[in-house]
Amino acid sequence: MLLTKTKTHPTAQQQNHNAPPINVLYIAGLGRSGSTVLNRVLGEIDGFFPAGEILHFFTRGINNNELCTCGEPVSDCEIWGKVISQLGDRIYRLVPLIDPFRDGRQIGKYIFNVCSVFIPWRPKWFAKKLRIYRYFVSHIYHSLQSLTDCRVIVDSSKNAAYAQILADIPNVRLHVIHLIRDSRGVAFSLTKKRRRPGIPWREEYMDQFKPFMGSLLWSAANLLAEKLKKKAVHYTRIRYHDFVVNPHEVLQKILYQMEIPFRPEDLSHLTEHTVQLKKRHIISGNPSRSQNGQIKLTEDVEWKTKLSKRNKIVVTALTFPFLYRYGFFSKSGQNESCAADSISPNGKRE
Ligand SMILES: [Zn+2]
Repeated sequence: MLLTKTKTHPTAQQQNHNAPPINVLYIAGLGRSGSTVLNRVLGEIDGFFPAGEILHFFTRGINNNELCTCGEPVSDCEIWGKVISQLGDRIYRLVPLIDPFRDGRQIGKYIFNVCSVFIPWRPKWFAKKLRIYRYFVSHIYHSLQSLTDCRVIVDSSKNAAYAQILADIPNVRLHVIHLIRDSRGVAFSLTKKRRRPGIPWREEYMDQFKPFMGSLLWSAANLLAEKLKKKAVHYTRIRYHDFVVNPHEVLQKILYQMEIPFRPEDLSHLTEHTVQLKKRHIISGNPSRSQNGQIKLTEDVEWKTKLSKRNKIVVTALTFPFLYRYGFFSKSGQNESCAADSISPNGKRE
């Protein structure tokens, strides 16, 4: 069935041949690392559209019609509803067939899909499926840009395989922010039972993992995020702690390194430790995506007292190479520059 459908869809290359470039500020890494907050803070900059996790738009938006942060179901949202209209009715039939990230709980299938995105010798049937998926993904970003007239789309999807697909869309300029939070904090957060927002009509919870699995996921996500250096126009690495301690400075550095022009007043929503947030159209993300008004930026350090000694040792041992690499053990580690590693368009490390 899929094979015949490929003939009806132009490739992303054909579709976007004359389209204007789209700047996507992509937050990569693992969940529970503060990506929703960073998405929202960046999204308050003039001309930036904080989209949330576009990766989940197919399933949570189109299929499940979950709530946008404007309070409307996605199909009735003034932005996302129009994006769906522009995709056409066929998208409802195609979503279950083409979305490679549809269900992370089918772990074998999910790993196969993620690996197939990264390796060049993927099966032909998967390559065709990916082409159709890329075509619709491309459509989403072009629709968002034309509907909101934004100059930058902020996407906190985090998934490195998805970013790899985005990078292959012509006219998409992918700027990657590799966001890292201490593995012990992430592993502890992943053990917590948290209700998934956006679906008040049914009880569903965010994915939970034991510290051992959380450690493996953390290492894998960061390893794959680093691979985006080769695909992105710009890549920069920041630690969540540095962002919370000095958000103004970190945001400035991100914008400088991504070569995105801004004026000092574009950061006026930030004070030393607070941010002023407006109601936006954000799909998917943790519960903080719905918070508005003045919000205090703080780091959740509950893990330091509540993660058992045994689990601290397990997580530290399993993630040690990356913790060391990212400066979590250095004496001045928590005060180092936010950009431990940045790559400019000419490939030079800065
Ligand atoms: Zn909305």
